[in-house]
Amino acid sequence: MTTKLSSKELMQLEDKYGAHNYHPLPVVLAKGEGPYMWDVEGKRYFDFLSAYSAVNQGHCHPKIVNAMYDQAKTLTLTSRAFYNDQLGPYEKYITEFFGYDKVLPMNSGAEADETALKLCRKWAYQKKGVPENQAKILVCEGNFHGRTITIISMSSDPDAFNDYGPFTPGFETIPYNDITALEKALEDPNVAGFLVEPIQGEAGVYVPDAGYLKKASELCKSKNVLFIADEVQTGIARTGRLLACDHEDVKPDILILGKALSGGVFPVSAVLANDNIMLCIKPGEHGSTFGGNPIAARVAMAALEVVKDEKLAEKAEYLGKIFRDELTNFKSDMVELVRGKGLLNAIIIKPKNGKEAWDVCVKMAENGLLAKPTHQHIIRFAPPLVITEEQMREAIEIIKKSILSFS
Ligand code: PLP
Repeated sequence: MTTKLSSKELMQLEDKYGAHNYHPLPVVLAKGEGPYMWDVEGKRYFDFLSAYSAVNQGHCHPKIVNAMYDQAKTLTLTSRAFYNDQLGPYEKYITEFFGYDKVLPMNSGAEADETALKLCRKWAYQKKGVPENQAKILVCEGNFHGRTITIISMSSDPDAFNDYGPFTPGFETIPYNDITALEKALEDPNVAGFLVEPIQGEAGVYVPDAGYLKKASELCKSKNVLFIADEVQTGIARTGRLLACDHEDVKPDILILGKALSGGVFPVSAVLANDNIMLCIKPGEHGSTFGGNPIAARVAMAALEVVKDEKLAEKAEYLGKIFRDELTNFKSDMVELVRGKGLLNAIIIKPKNGKEAWDVCVKMAENGLLAKPTHQHIIRFAPPLVITEEQMREAIEIIKKSILSFS
């Protein structure tokens, strides 16, 4: 549908008829291509959020969109009550791509996280011998794994959990990037799993110390505890490797993927594990009407092919260095710190004359670049990985110019 309404009118509609569970920047988008989006008035922006790292392959990537369109004309949904002709080839493709025996397909990131938690508990009772209902899963302070009741039960962010109790038991929160705390928590024989983001994205792009993930996975192994990596945001080339865990040659026992698994065109998520873990869930014990549907299968295969064919991990690594070099050397008393890996980066904004990260984001939007603050003083910068070096340098100038406008 082409709309004739102005940005202002469209924002008013959302405000009047939509729940107020988001606080968007005042920009109404109508079109996307590669690293760009356009608003309804036709103004062009660099997208430096990529729908929270879902659009790694760029907006409306023709190969992915064509796969979706082609499949949508043919067969969209069968449910898992029957086999479909796309799921098997996709399952073979994705398991070989990431090196696991099996995949369990879901839709959103939160559902994939829930699936991983259920799988971990099943394994704890069936394989590890944890007494009934005693399994414990360790999680990290500052985590973000989605919005379900169980997931917010693991959260340390009051915005996520306030007034949503009672909460799901069975989790213990330990500090992120703290090996000693993990070692201590692992002394409990009922610990079944350790769920961790290799970089905490929503918390503000917290990169743990080099060696943390490696050591954590070794400790888990030594205690017969599953190392579960939530790579919903960090995975699929975003941080300069296929998976952020690859930076430390860590192979999670359970791998959780979402977002860019579809290049942002469709909700597709997945949990990967080897047979000794995955086969703990038997027919009828878990599922989803839409999980593993033919469109999702086609789209995800195309999205992964694009990542490989266009060498997006290598691009993220190379362009990420340019981004961090440029902004680290940029002199402004509003930039306190630049951190990140590949093209998942953040800058910490030091407020000046009452101007905060939000004001910087509004100014950047005026200047043609979209990013969003996460927590009050952090701005995450995560462009589609198809951005070219020239476009990246242009975008960096917009960021610098916007920040300088407050000095
Ligand atoms: N896990 C991580 C690490 C995320 O960053 C997110 C979303 O930002 C999720 C899970 C939840 O994904 P979804 O919003 O698709 O449920």
